[in-house]
Amino acid sequence: MAIWNLGSINADMVYTMPHLPVAGETLAASGLDQFLGGKGANMSVAAARAGSVVHHIGAVGPEGDWAVARLMEYGVDTRSIATLDLPTGHAIIAVDQAGENQIILYPGANRAISEDQIGQALSTANAGDILVLQNETNMQAEAAKMARDLGLRVAYAAAPFDAQAVRQVLPYLDLLFLNQVEAEQLQQVTGQSADALGVTDVIVTLGAQGARHYSASSGQALDVAALPVTPVDTTGAGDTFTGYVLSALDRGLPMPQAMSLAARAAALMVTRHGTADVIPDLKEVQSARF
Ligand code: ADP
Repeated sequence: MAIWNLGSINADMVYTMPHLPVAGETLAASGLDQFLGGKGANMSVAAARAGSVVHHIGAVGPEGDWAVARLMEYGVDTRSIATLDLPTGHAIIAVDQAGENQIILYPGANRAISEDQIGQALSTANAGDILVLQNETNMQAEAAKMARDLGLRVAYAAAPFDAQAVRQVLPYLDLLFLNQVEAEQLQQVTGQSADALGVTDVIVTLGAQGARHYSASSGQALDVAALPVTPVDTTGAGDTFTGYVLSALDRGLPMPQAMSLAARAAALMVTRHGTADVIPDLKEVQSARF
C-alpha cells in the first residue's frame, strides 16, 4: 500500500532578530537559517521515515529544486511534484531573543496545483491506498472526491483551520485529524462535536495531554497519553503525529498501536528544534526510552 499526500512544500527562512520589527522599522537580522517546512512536506517525511511508500503531490517554483531534492533524500517519491513559474511557498520567520516569533507566510506555488496534475498522480494509485490533505494547498475537495471514486481512503488534517475548506472535504473523509483549537473551531462552524460529524475515524491531538481517537463504527473513544519529555520546540509535532498514524494504518497496524507509535514519535519531535529535517525514523521511535 502507499500514501499519497497533496501537500505544501515551504522554505522556512528563520531570521534571528535583536527584537521583532515594528511598523516602519528597518532592522538587520544577525542570522538566517533555511529549513524545509510546510505541513505537507512534514507529513510526507514523517510517513516515509515511519516506513511507508509516500508519493508527494505538490508544486514548487524554479528556485525550489533544493526542497524537492531534500524530500527525495528523506525517502519521499517526488515525481508528482510540479515546477511552476511562481515563487516556491515560503515562511519568513523572525525570532527575537526571547524566542517570540512573527511569521509571514506566502503560499506561492502551493496554491497553484492543477486538477490534471492530481488526476495523473492518482491514476497510478491502488484501491486501499491513503490520500492525505491539509489546508496549505488548493484542490483539496477535488482531490478528495477523485480519491474516493478510486477506492482510496481519504485523510485530512484541518490545519490551518479554514471553515469553507473543511465543509467542502467533509463528505469524502474516512479520517479526520484536529488539534484541540481546530476541534473547537469546527464545533463552532458545524454546531456539532468532532465525533458527531459522520467521519469514520476522528483523532484529536491534545498537546501535552496526548490524543483521543473516536471511532464511529464502535462508538468508542480511545485515549493515548503523551510521553513525559521536556519540550524545546513543538513545531511539527502534530504533523509528525499524523504522518506516523497514517503510516501505521497503511502498514496494517490497528489504531491503538498506530496512536501509541505516533505519540512516541511526536514526543521525540518536541525535544528537537526544526521541522521536516529532524523528524525521527521508526527505529529511533521504537527504541526511545521515556
Ligand atoms: P499541533 O502541533 O498540531 O498543535 P498538538 O500540540 O496537539 O498538535 O501535538 C500533537 C501531539 O504531539 C500530541 O498529541 C502529543 O502526542 C505530542 N505532544 C505535543 N506536545 C507535547 C508535550 N509537551 N509532551 C509530549 N508530547 C507532546
